[in-house]
Amino acid sequence: MSRRAVVIGAGLSGMLAAAVLSAAGADEVVVVDRDELPDGPEHRRGLPQGRHAHLLMAGGLTAMEELLEGAELRKRLLAAGAHEIPLNSGMVALTPEGWLRRWRRAGPSMLTCTRALLDWVVRQAVLERAPVQIRKAAVVGLTGSAGRVRGVRLAEPGGDTDLDADLVVDASGRGTRVVSWLDGIGVTGVREQAVDSGLVNASRLYRVPEGAEDFPLTIVQPNPYLARAGRSAMIMPVEGGRWLVSCGGTRGGEPPADPEGFLRYTLALPDPIVGRLISGAEPLGDVHLSRSTSNVRRYLEKLPAWPERFVVLGDALATFNPAYGHGMSVAAFGARVLSRELTRGGMTAPGLARRVVRGAARAAEPAWSMAVSQDLLYPEVRGGGRPSPADRLVSAYSRRMMRAATGSFTAASVIWDLMSLRTPPTRMFRPTAALAALAGPPLPPLTEPPLTEQEQALVRRLDRT
Ligand SMILES: Cc1cc2nc3c(=O)[nH]c(=O)nc-3n(C[C@H](O)[C@H](O)[C@H](O)COP(=O)(O)OP(=O)(O)OC[C@H]3O[C@@H](n4cnc5c(N)ncnc54)[C@H](O)[C@@H]3O)c2cc1C
Repeated sequence: MSRRAVVIGAGLSGMLAAAVLSAAGADEVVVVDRDELPDGPEHRRGLPQGRHAHLLMAGGLTAMEELLEGAELRKRLLAAGAHEIPLNSGMVALTPEGWLRRWRRAGPSMLTCTRALLDWVVRQAVLERAPVQIRKAAVVGLTGSAGRVRGVRLAEPGGDTDLDADLVVDASGRGTRVVSWLDGIGVTGVREQAVDSGLVNASRLYRVPEGAEDFPLTIVQPNPYLARAGRSAMIMPVEGGRWLVSCGGTRGGEPPADPEGFLRYTLALPDPIVGRLISGAEPLGDVHLSRSTSNVRRYLEKLPAWPERFVVLGDALATFNPAYGHGMSVAAFGARVLSRELTRGGMTAPGLARRVVRGAARAAEPAWSMAVSQDLLYPEVRGGGRPSPADRLVSAYSRRMMRAATGSFTAASVIWDLMSLRTPPTRMFRPTAALAALAGPPLPPLTEPPLTEQEQALVRRLDRT
């Protein structure tokens, strides 16, 4: 009997899920997206966040490479112009505890490119290896019952149609209507939690100035410990000889969309390095704003009963404040859970859907805790309640680790591993890590960004402020 899987959404979760379903033996995999997908690395409406900086952490890249084995994703991205940023040496970062040093010893890397390029490369890799169909339509509901989902309802120009499926995956992202779709088949009582720091992102592309091709990724991080709005800015190299500059401000510290205000915002941060660099760089377009940044968790895994044949992955299950750069990695972890469960019992195994939703929720937990525990420190945060004594303890310990990281390679490695989602958060409490945190930074704090003489000269040359 022929088996059909339907995936809602052709973003990262959706395309990775499609690859996994195809590899697991689905005869037909249909990915439904309301967008016409571009035939190249181009921005599209359905991914408004694509205008903003997207860091791909090592943990997420590893998961994607595992899911698309043989596709050589990293190599393809680099060939298409993505940058590989070694966290130990390729980044200049001002943290709330001071500047991180740049070390000669190795550490993990992250990839930077536009979101459009990443999605296009992943999509191509999936479509090359798996007979996946893409269908342009908006999903408006599920069909079936509270016990078993049987397909999706599509809004198409000629009217609504039903598309039957043996398994449905909701990968429709942050704006999913999953709660009302579930309600439509009689599944009620989903608990949702939103923790909203009111973060606004403002981003603009620039041409990389001559001589700045190898300038490190530069970031001034927000400070959640000052009982006032967090403000940050980052210069991230992307393909095509461009810098993607993203500012982020929590409620009361939002960056503006006008070009002069955007520059002023970067110059007013605790260090003006981002503003000094972009003041002499050529902008390539407007400033784009995003307000869609809340942490949102839908506790689907906690429902007393879950319909068979329906799985929810990626942002549709949990979204995080983008400042932590974890959403795409968590999307890949969710697809990896789906892959493991499919290998065990196939697409129609009883209880598969529930196991996947539970596993994907577990895989989202570290990123959720990291984001929420920090966001709760901002004064104007909405939702989530006050941090518990345990939250405060973990937050104080993380802060101590960050302070140590400004002058200790061991502590810096802990921070990189956590940031990369390569290791579980318990990494922070291993004996060597705890000792490094308790001992504090053996080297004195840096009073200036850790730049080479050549890089300093470049900053001076570009500075028009
Ligand atoms: C400003 C910002 C910056 C970010 N920066 C980072 C970062 O640095 N690093 C990182 O890892 N993550 C980052 N993220 C998070 C990242 O964008 C998401 O985690 C990631 O896109 C999740 O992938 P997804 O496939 O689940 O959803 P999406 O990528 O959002 O894809 C959803 C897809 O579903 C389609 N769709 C939606 N509704 C329907 C429907 N009803 N019918 C049919 N199709 C539908 C959409 O068109 C879209 O193609 C950032 C997010 C924001 C907002």
